[in-house]
Amino acid sequence: MSVAQITPARESSIGELAVRRALPTRGRRTVGPWCFLDHLGPATYREDLRYDVAPHPHIGLQTVTWLLEGAMVHRDSLGSEQLIRPGQVNLMSAGDGVVHSEENPGLDHGELHGVQLWLAQPDATRHGAAAFEHLEDPPRIELDHGLATLLVGASMGIASRARPDADGLALELRLARGATPVALETAFEHALLVAEGEVVLGGEAVAPGSLAYLEPGSDVVDLVTHEGAVALLIGGPPFPETVVMWWNFVARSHEEIARAYEAYLKHDERFGEVASALARLEVAPPPWFGSRR
Ligand code: MN
Repeated sequence: MSVAQITPARESSIGELAVRRALPTRGRRTVGPWCFLDHLGPATYREDLRYDVAPHPHIGLQTVTWLLEGAMVHRDSLGSEQLIRPGQVNLMSAGDGVVHSEENPGLDHGELHGVQLWLAQPDATRHGAAAFEHLEDPPRIELDHGLATLLVGASMGIASRARPDADGLALELRLARGATPVALETAFEHALLVAEGEVVLGGEAVAPGSLAYLEPGSDVVDLVTHEGAVALLIGGPPFPETVVMWWNFVARSHEEIARAYEAYLKHDERFGEVASALARLEVAPPPWFGSRR
């Protein structure tokens, strides 16, 4: 039986949207290539609570957006404009630089609930061009008592057609009452985030608000739920490099981040602009920024 290490997520927010940040936490920086995992909401839309995320930059990562409820319009500096609904995947590759917004398409009631994941791009692509993909109908895999949807990567013999920058996977699991074995890659470390309900993993109950980590070495995990649950399983080979993160930037050094910050500040063409009605986000410089001049 796999033994899970459970770490609490940190309460945080993106504008007015409450999020639970399961990665990075003090106890854990990465799971495979995954360096960031936010559980968004659930939050209720109102006329004055739109949960728009205004244009902001990224470098060195791929963002995976997955909604359980609600909708968002993605706009980016490549000119992409894409509505995402539950069951669809938005995958944006930042490479050397991209700017995007995530905007409410006009919802004033109902719920917003989802996750956003960041994958640290490897050296082969992290200085490259930005890209955006939308998967209308990602692959689904029948489980014993549930259904898996493959957001990115490969699992159980199925591969996503989304661009894979690093070996790794993200699966949504919709589990019905009972025990469901889910195949794992032995060489991968994995983590489970429960979005709804409760999952018992190796005898420990895992609920929303924490991350259950599984070391490499298992080829299967038994997920038990009494009332049904929706969870996210991520994994990959332990990331070979130390990732340096600040604001929306993923890099390997403070110097790289300072250069990206400066380029964004100066509206350098490295980042470009988003066709959005929202004013772009600005941020105070990183603490080490001034010390280099
Ligand atoms: Mn973003």
